[in-house]
Amino acid sequence: MSTINVTRSSMPGFNEYCEEIKTLWDSHWLTNMGEKHQKLQRKLESLLACPHVVLYTNGHLALENVIAAMKFQKGSEVITTPFTFVSTTHAISRNGLIPVFCDVNPDNYTIDVDKIEGLITEKTVAIVPVHVYGNMCDVERIEQIAKKYDLKVIYDAAHAFAVKYKGISSANFGDASMFSFHATKVFNTIEGGAVCFQDDSLVNTMNDMKNFGIRGPERVVFIGGNAKMSEFQAAMGICNLRHLNEEIGKRKIVAERYWSHLNNVKGIRLCKPQKDVESNYAYFPVVFDEFDVDRDEVFEALSKNGIVARKYFYPITNSVETYVDLPTAGAEKTPVAAFLADRVLTLPMYADLALEDVDRICEVILSYGK
Ligand SMILES: *Cc1c(COP(=O)(O)O)cnc(C)c1O
Repeated sequence: MSTINVTRSSMPGFNEYCEEIKTLWDSHWLTNMGEKHQKLQRKLESLLACPHVVLYTNGHLALENVIAAMKFQKGSEVITTPFTFVSTTHAISRNGLIPVFCDVNPDNYTIDVDKIEGLITEKTVAIVPVHVYGNMCDVERIEQIAKKYDLKVIYDAAHAFAVKYKGISSANFGDASMFSFHATKVFNTIEGGAVCFQDDSLVNTMNDMKNFGIRGPERVVFIGGNAKMSEFQAAMGICNLRHLNEEIGKRKIVAERYWSHLNNVKGIRLCKPQKDVESNYAYFPVVFDEFDVDRDEVFEALSKNGIVARKYFYPITNSVETYVDLPTAGAEKTPVAAFLADRVLTLPMYADLALEDVDRICEVILSYGK
């Protein structure tokens, strides 16, 4: 019996990639914002209908740098959620800022907008919400709150590439949004990421941050680091972008197959499609609550059958050991996130997942629950 992994990176045909990188053997220009980098950037600005897309070598540094670009005073507080990949919390902490954990809502697991205001203090400078699993946060309420208290909003949109809300791409909300183009994401450049924003004055800063603050052969204007996307990464992105719609279409079919088996099963909760949201079907999270067996047993049973699911997200970031000493830490302070973390599994999800494999996965799960 073959193993079914939780994800499988999208790749263009071998020849298609070779064709795309061929010109690099003429130019010998391998990185430093070359031809491929510029081409991918233009394509993304057009696809996302966003005035500024700055490419990065990964999503984490993109997020860390865009937070740094806001020049918050060290020790300021940033409201975020613990139901995310540790990268979100690290990006805040590594900037010398204090993450303040807000709970998530039980419907789509994004930040609970009714709980944000209660966490705002004189030290609060920003909100870093997460479009978790590709589910859009309540961007309208978040904008209202940010306006009222004069806070910046930076979205961790790592999961939400190509998602649209009311026809507007997820790149266009808040002060900035970060996408990850990591191999495991819906769209990948092997490793990669981007920051998207409207504000013209942020362009130079974001470019300085990723390229040593170098503005010209003899000019260094800023103490920047190095987080440039290489030409090979960009070429992978150019190729993968050609197949994006097809890939998302296939993911949709996989998601529908899961729904056909798992919807309305007692003890199994699925994430309902959001109103006005065009999904990218990035993940397939399932919450086992009062199911015959608990989440860990389902995980083991799948594993015994060669099926790899993920406890994503467990543990939540306010309970990992690096953060336990934070005054704001403690899973008990975010009960909904804690509840989910103990019960959620993301099932295998990728464009080329065979529907028979989806049937097999569901069969293992439904061998319980009778
Ligand atoms: C993948 C991911 C990141 C980090 O992106 P990388 O490209 O892997 O650096 C950040 N936040 C979330 C929610 C992610 O899933």
